[in-house]
Amino acid sequence: MSEGKLRIAMHGAAGRMGQAIARAIGESSDLVLAAAIDRSGDGTTASLDAIASADVVVDFSHRDATRGIAEACSKHGKPLVVGTTGLAQETLDAIDALAKRERVVLAANTSVGVTVLFHLAKEAARLLGGEFDAEIVELHHGKKVDAPSGTALRLAEAVAEGKGLDASSFVHGRSGMVGARKKDEIGIHAVRLSDVVGEHTLYLSGPAERLELVHRAHDRALFARGALRAARWVAREGAPGRYDMRAVLGLA
Ligand code: NAD
Repeated sequence: MSEGKLRIAMHGAAGRMGQAIARAIGESSDLVLAAAIDRSGDGTTASLDAIASADVVVDFSHRDATRGIAEACSKHGKPLVVGTTGLAQETLDAIDALAKRERVVLAANTSVGVTVLFHLAKEAARLLGGEFDAEIVELHHGKKVDAPSGTALRLAEAVAEGKGLDASSFVHGRSGMVGARKKDEIGIHAVRLSDVVGEHTLYLSGPAERLELVHRAHDRALFARGALRAARWVAREGAPGRYDMRAVLGLA
């Protein structure tokens, strides 16, 4: 029975995230997969017009493919959740054109826990003030090619915002005669270990006490669950515009 359920069109349906989202839709009681779109040849459709039958479109595809789906959403008047990363300016322009008429969520990290972590980190850094040293340690699997993680950098930005600092305070690892730690440094350290999905720890250490905020990702299903929470949110009545996960959680 799909009556009364929110109809989702998945763009990038054959990919790792597309499949995780299809599983999460199958496990839900309020959502149904109305269209599975990829580059075809794998049981999906290549026609972007397939979104016509959906209430909401979710995109986890490729940076070169997101512009097309944003334009198709404009054509068919559909709200959109974009999880695809590394988007070019012309793609962001197409998303902004859609956001004039529809609700769009653009989120490079759809984890609900990470969204709350950024919020708490900024608030904790602000409340604890300049006396507290901030250092970030991130753990990921050994196949990850970039360091530090984008999430660690966003976490450092949240801490910097809370402390009234900017990116010039970031220190990436330490080696050799680096001198004593300066008060305004925000240290960022990357650890690579076998099959760790992803872990981020923020240390805030002051005189005689230390606060630690830790997020551990167990499975990429967490991104799928967050993306579907965003899909339910964009489908609601509300002002058109481009939003992020903070809005979905009611934080902004
Ligand atoms: P993937 O390579 O497993 O899947 C991408 C899918 O998109 C593939 O099936 C591919 O065939 C399809 N695709 C590529 N070009 C297409 C086109 N022109 N038309 C239709 N389909 C097309 O990748 P993934 O791990 O599922 O990640 C997809 C994107 O989501 C990446 O940009 C990744 O960085 C991002 N991502 C975001 C989050 C988040 O929390 N927002 C989490 C994980 C991944």
